[in-house]
Amino acid sequence: MAIRVAVIGAGAAGLCAVRHLTARPSIFHTVCFDKNSIEGGTWIYTEETGSDKYGLPVQSSMYKNLRTNLPKEVMAFPGFPFRSSLPSFIKHDDVLEYLQEYTKHYDLHKCIKFETLVQHVRPEVHGDKTQWHVSYSNVGQRDETKTEIFDVVMVCNGHYEVPLYPKIPGLDDFEGEVIHSHCYRHPEQFTGKRVVCLGAAASGQDIAVDVSSCAKYLYMSHNKAVLQTVLPDNVEQRPGIKQLNKHSVIFKDDNEVDIDVLLLCTGYLYNFPFLSEDIGLQVEEERIWPLYKHVIHTHYPSLSFIGILKTICPFPAFDMQVRFVIAGIDGSMPLPSEEEMNKDIDKDFKLRLSEGLPVRYAHNMGPRQWRYNDGLAEMAKIKPLPEVVEKLYDYVHETRVKDIAGYKSVNYSIEGDKDMFKVVET
Ligand code: FAD
Repeated sequence: MAIRVAVIGAGAAGLCAVRHLTARPSIFHTVCFDKNSIEGGTWIYTEETGSDKYGLPVQSSMYKNLRTNLPKEVMAFPGFPFRSSLPSFIKHDDVLEYLQEYTKHYDLHKCIKFETLVQHVRPEVHGDKTQWHVSYSNVGQRDETKTEIFDVVMVCNGHYEVPLYPKIPGLDDFEGEVIHSHCYRHPEQFTGKRVVCLGAAASGQDIAVDVSSCAKYLYMSHNKAVLQTVLPDNVEQRPGIKQLNKHSVIFKDDNEVDIDVLLLCTGYLYNFPFLSEDIGLQVEEERIWPLYKHVIHTHYPSLSFIGILKTICPFPAFDMQVRFVIAGIDGSMPLPSEEEMNKDIDKDFKLRLSEGLPVRYAHNMGPRQWRYNDGLAEMAKIKPLPEVVEKLYDYVHETRVKDIAGYKSVNYSIEGDKDMFKVVET
């Protein structure tokens, strides 16, 4: 009998899972659930913020002018390139279109239940077998739930939906506008205003550049070392925030400036409201435990999480994680014992701490991602990512840190199967 698999989410991660599962229909019976009405997850741009027409929180964090921060040449799922006529750094609607083409090409719609909210997932253990009770409803009729039983659950619910609001002294007294990047849509809303953009990770940098096109003045406030980068004339870097007053901000160097808007680019929280407590998943300081290789629940190996990692090349990494999980489910890759898997988690976490990383970096990858991907490929005996993905990703990273406003003005091309890339000036 086929293995029944529930996939929660039809964003890039969930679509990738459904693609690989449905490629083997005699082994897997796949059902994917998504609360949105179409596939694409965070790439579905909407003007809405706050709650949607069903009273559910708006899922997408896309903003109007977003162009990708990775070139399409490395963003693509392996074996499914973006249209070659597109430039390297593409608009959000091109990514959505790509995910829709992917869905169509692999005929994934037949397995996806849209406008369906997964409300509860709980395990029931029978001897050495776990069955998953997945309860869901239509988004508009949330008190009418149905429950189906699955052998495997793949959680692909994304992690850019629940804003992380930092604690800042004086925030409640501040009389200007406070907005999280999750609700940021277009720069015109800040025309002529003095804005502090707090946080300078990749999307904070991008949003700062976008907002500066309309703002009177923009302070990029962050706790990193000063970025050695070219900035628009009306943008200045400042340290983190010490305190807010009614109409001003005091930075950590004790300088005070008057501002109109505080734009929080301070990241997001992991959120799994549908998982039953019996599962024992712990999320503390942005560390999720116990996930072997950041993916497989060590006590319930039939429960996995795709796309938890941060600072990665997302679509190729999802593809790798999905194939790794499938190799575990179909028996082609024997998993270590629960104890060994927990030891492996511990080793990875302690190494990070010993390097001075905070707990909240437990799933941050950056340069670690390539060794990690290769490790999964080796264990699951699957094709590793082409080396050119690493080379081009690292090259773009280097050019971005030097010129956060201008790095998207070039195009790249990958040279056939030569594992090389070329810079094409526009
Ligand atoms: P999502 O796209 O968030 O999909 C999760 C899906 O799960 C959603 O469709 C949601 O409706 C569904 N869901 C959640 N809970 C439930 C539930 N209970 N029941 C049913 N359905 C549920 N990546 C790049 O590669 N390049 C970029 O340039 C880039 N830029 C980005 C810019 C921004 C502003 C953001 C927020 C992200 C960016 N990313 C970028 C990262 C991006 O998040 C990933 O590329 C990828 O799209 C994430 O896919 P996902 O499937 O993990 O999550």
